[in-house]
Amino acid sequence: MSSKIFFTVGPSQVFPTVKKHIQKALDLNIPSISHRGQEFKQIYQELDQNLKKLLKIPPDHQIFLVSSALEAMERTIQGTVKKDSFHVITGSFGKTWTKIAQNLGKTTQIQEAEPGQGIDLKNLSVPLQSETICLTHNDTSTGVTLEIKDIENLKKKFPQKIIALDVVSSIPYVDINYKFIDIVLLSVQKGFGLPAGLGVLIVSPQALKRAQNLQNNGVVVGSYHSLISLSEKAKEFQTPETPNVLNIWLLNQVLKDMLKVGIKKIRQETEIKSKIFYNFFDKHPKYKVFVKNKINRSNTVIVIDVAGESKIIRDRLKKHNFEVSSGYGPFKEQHIRIANFPTHTKKQVEALLNLI
Ligand SMILES: *Cc1c(COP(=O)(O)O)cnc(C)c1O
Repeated sequence: MSSKIFFTVGPSQVFPTVKKHIQKALDLNIPSISHRGQEFKQIYQELDQNLKKLLKIPPDHQIFLVSSALEAMERTIQGTVKKDSFHVITGSFGKTWTKIAQNLGKTTQIQEAEPGQGIDLKNLSVPLQSETICLTHNDTSTGVTLEIKDIENLKKKFPQKIIALDVVSSIPYVDINYKFIDIVLLSVQKGFGLPAGLGVLIVSPQALKRAQNLQNNGVVVGSYHSLISLSEKAKEFQTPETPNVLNIWLLNQVLKDMLKVGIKKIRQETEIKSKIFYNFFDKHPKYKVFVKNKINRSNTVIVIDVAGESKIIRDRLKKHNFEVSSGYGPFKEQHIRIANFPTHTKKQVEALLNLI
């Protein structure tokens, strides 16, 4: 195997300790333990504590483990929306969430930005009938980020509505006051640097109460997985189904590693590397940062308009053992997308930019 480095936006380079942890997991027979046994409950409980500690999540919020972020989007709609949801769309992932709601038979209200632009959340008008506001903090397709303070302020403005936030490609960098966000969802193959196939839901008491009310009123809030069934099981640190025990164990190990590094340092380093990326491309004679407005530029997903040279650049980088992502959808040939996750070092960033 080569010493290839994945700057792809997901899946991405695994966290440096993951290789060692996988070996250890096999030595400890983690893939064979029962998900109903004490050992698993302890892993889940530790993960719950470590995630809450790392991200400063209030103790009354619950942590649910599901299969992916898209599943988490579906559980969010089923569990909090009877008829109508509101969607802030800054790229393909916000669109996907809207589609999920529509597939579940909900009516959807949409505020959609032009590609590469943000949305003015300070003046967002949300109709009375919308029960939940769904937002993507950092749309990985466009590299557009929304200001977290503005998202938190939505809760102050609309206290009765559930605020649901996708942080898949900005966690653990993004610093959230969880008091103001009812549902935060993520998957682990991006910023946490783990193999794909595990999603996490961070759920407030208000969101859970909403799900309970819907269920009491005869609304189907899910089947084997619903906010209710997940909550019941999570109280005993279990999941309804046989979960991805190996990845759950690995996530807990990486959380411990990140606690050792310290979240402050992880965030600072992310910002330092992000500045290096943006300074480089702002000065580049030919390639341009796709997101023009600086406040909407993601610190974790750097999207560059490379004037149709996406494939050429990616092929050249590959020869030097670097992988970056192509553009998303219609921008496949026009863009490259580069991840700036905790696993990526400043040295690697500089080596990558030297080749561009
Ligand atoms: C990757 C990604 C998802 C989808 O995650 P899955 O694990 O494939 O479900 C959702 N939202 C954003 C912003 C993403 O980057």
